[in-house]
Amino acid sequence: MSRHDLLIDGQLQPAATYDDVFDPASGDAVGQAARASQEQVRQAVAAAARALPAWSGAPEARRLSLAAAATRVREHVAALAELVTREQGRPLQATRQEIAGVAATLDHYAALEVPAETTLQDDDERRVRIVRRPLGVVAAITPWNVPLILLVLKLAPALHAGNTVVAKPSEHTPLSTLLLAGLLRDLFPAGVLNVVAGDGAVGEYLARQPAVRHITFTGSVATGKRLYAGAADDLKRLTLELGGNDAALVLEDADVEAIAEPLFWGAFWNSGQVCFAIKRLYVHASLFEPLLAALVARAERTHLGHGLDPRSELGPLSNRQQLERVEALVDDARRHGARIHSGGRRLDGPGHFYPPTLVSGIGAGVALVDEEQFGPVLPVIPFDDVEDAIAQANASPYGLGASVWTRDTARGEAIAARLESGLAWVNQHLHIQPGAPKGGHKWSGLGYEGGQRGYDAFSELQVLNIARR
Ligand code: NAD
Repeated sequence: MSRHDLLIDGQLQPAATYDDVFDPASGDAVGQAARASQEQVRQAVAAAARALPAWSGAPEARRLSLAAAATRVREHVAALAELVTREQGRPLQATRQEIAGVAATLDHYAALEVPAETTLQDDDERRVRIVRRPLGVVAAITPWNVPLILLVLKLAPALHAGNTVVAKPSEHTPLSTLLLAGLLRDLFPAGVLNVVAGDGAVGEYLARQPAVRHITFTGSVATGKRLYAGAADDLKRLTLELGGNDAALVLEDADVEAIAEPLFWGAFWNSGQVCFAIKRLYVHASLFEPLLAALVARAERTHLGHGLDPRSELGPLSNRQQLERVEALVDDARRHGARIHSGGRRLDGPGHFYPPTLVSGIGAGVALVDEEQFGPVLPVIPFDDVEDAIAQANASPYGLGASVWTRDTARGEAIAARLESGLAWVNQHLHIQPGAPKGGHKWSGLGYEGGQRGYDAFSELQVLNIARR
């Protein structure tokens, strides 16, 4: 079984303790991840702080390192994708897409030219420049659902902007991040990129280090709130990409046959373990029966299996806790009178397999509708009046994504603009536009990732004001 070590100060470092990581499709051990001690976390942060002055002063070298990293990732797509599949569960064609996205993101930042300063005034009286400066050491803490792209969306802009990074992957999927760190090790000066692994306690310890000036976090609302509170003492900067409970609204003129497939994937891609998956489906009453029937038919012919089996369309849930959460939500919905139209029970045998499950007969007030299920279960809720559907969609503390499905795209756009979410789509869900900022409203996040706003979060500004007389 392969052992994966930490990356600290340019060196792969073993740890006193290793954690087994299991394949969620089979229960077999995939490998072992070094668990960072507190001393190793402090060493990683210290190395990142030492590397900062030289790295922040070398913008061209930063871009060259990012370009070299993109090339290195492309050379190792097969190994990286296979490891993500084995530790996370998603089918190989989807993890290959993820790794292609990792390389594309690195390329994007390698090519990005951002002016280091702007001049506000330059005359006999004074010279005033606004200069971008890196924040310092960035702690990048990531979840398990799409581990490498979520990491690189943080690493690439943070490093491009001249910061150094200590990353902490999820304890459920640490191996792919540690493999990536090993592959990129020689492309960055020692200390610029460090990876420590372990559970939430390691993340919390990292986030509290005084030299950490920015915490960029993707994960649950509960952990995000905790990090926000913990950062207050030291006024650390934060970017929080948190959970969602996305609504999709199907209007009375939608084409059921055309939308069933994209709606299915909008809800069930990665077995629903996507922050901005469709998690509540509101359907005009006139289309409720035919659309539900089309979705049930699609769900029933879905091939579930090990992600390395090319026939698999969906893999297992990524970990036992997530499987148990989904089971508990479905059981609770049953107790509230829900009808289960497909799936509804875990599959027998090894692995955390839970088939795509369509549920009706419940609405607001039931946890499966009110909370983020983060799994392959979709409540379908009829409406008569679109104003009522909009009100229900917005009656949530979450605000990550939302979509409207209609033949009338102008009306769809007008309704989408009234939805309280950072991402709002018409006739699609999940599509992320390159260059666009992604961020959640309300409890779904703080700040943005990607785009100019996302990039700016990794810098602070200094106004240099020189009196000339
Ligand atoms: P999680 O909050 O349990 O864990 C995320 C990371 O934080 C892990 O690395 C974990 O070890 C670490 N962590 C846990 N407690 C910590 C603490 N007290 N201090 C510092 N770090 C700590 O989330 P998860 O279960 O891994 O991920 C699923 C959640 O992530 C879902 O809610 C999902 O919607 C959300 N998510 C959001 C986005 C987005 O872009 N908005 C993307 C993917 C996932």
